[in-house]
Amino acid sequence: MRLLSRSLAIFPRASLTLVAAALCLLAAIPAFPWGFTAHDIINGQAITALPEPLRTFYTRHRELVVRHSADPDLFREFDPDEGARHYLDIDHYGKYPFEALPLDYEQAVAQFGKEEVARYGLVPWVIGWKYDELVQAFRNRKWDRVLVTSAWLGHYVGDCHVPLHSTENYDGQQTNQRGVHQRWEVELVNRFVKAEEIHPKPAVRIKGKVHHRARRWLLESAQLVEGVLKADREALKDGQFDYQKFAASQLGTVKRRLTQAAHRLACLWYSAWREAERPGGSGLQTGRPDGVGIEAGGNEVVDPRPVRGAGHSDGRAEPRR
Ligand SMILES: [Zn+2]
Repeated sequence: MRLLSRSLAIFPRASLTLVAAALCLLAAIPAFPWGFTAHDIINGQAITALPEPLRTFYTRHRELVVRHSADPDLFREFDPDEGARHYLDIDHYGKYPFEALPLDYEQAVAQFGKEEVARYGLVPWVIGWKYDELVQAFRNRKWDRVLVTSAWLGHYVGDCHVPLHSTENYDGQQTNQRGVHQRWEVELVNRFVKAEEIHPKPAVRIKGKVHHRARRWLLESAQLVEGVLKADREALKDGQFDYQKFAASQLGTVKRRLTQAAHRLACLWYSAWREAERPGGSGLQTGRPDGVGIEAGGNEVVDPRPVRGAGHSDGRAEPRR
């Protein structure tokens, strides 16, 4: 259903002021999934995994691709349908490997109904839809859309790699561990991870249905859930949470998931460009693909996002996915 893929990534220029004003207000809303830091790391480090000429192109616009990495979280405030795009509580559908849930969206809807499918989450399908949007943007040589769609795709790929985005017990509410969501995906990253430590392997072209592949990424996440919850329980003693102990158990997993997400995101960007038959060619290295300057009038990069607020991951607000 392409309805969902009609995201708010690119705005009509007339609405930019309104959007910018609204985003200023949103800048005060705390607690985002993976936190801004992790989404920034994934989008930023994915660029390092790209081959030329894409690497030069994305590097030139790195700030934009990174700055838009958490936009989909901000837009949950505007769009009530946005939230479900960030997770898939796949354990709702039985036991690993959750074959009761069809791989394809249309079949899932036919079996469970659109409402139930939306309620338990959509992230692998959204990755597929966003990828298709990116291919289209490349084909149309809409370079501003390429960059913003790339950033949004990075967000969903990142969320798909978070263990607690794959379970109904997403904040430990079923096991008396409320707050584990924030402790794992925000606190561990903010306290212990530096972007330079994340080295994704070089991107390769991937073929086949993207949402099938994304389902496999989510299955990996689902297999990590028990370990996250166990480590969280063990790090809590006498009402005190020991982040050093939590990190000793989970930091390796956090870094591995960040690295995998960045690598796979780069693969998707590269594959979309290849699928669109390499628009821009080597001109991408100069930022003037096909003679169309990316900063030229009528096709400039639109960046509607204002400065981010400081209070996004203070660890106190109710975590959301
Ligand atoms: Zn998200």
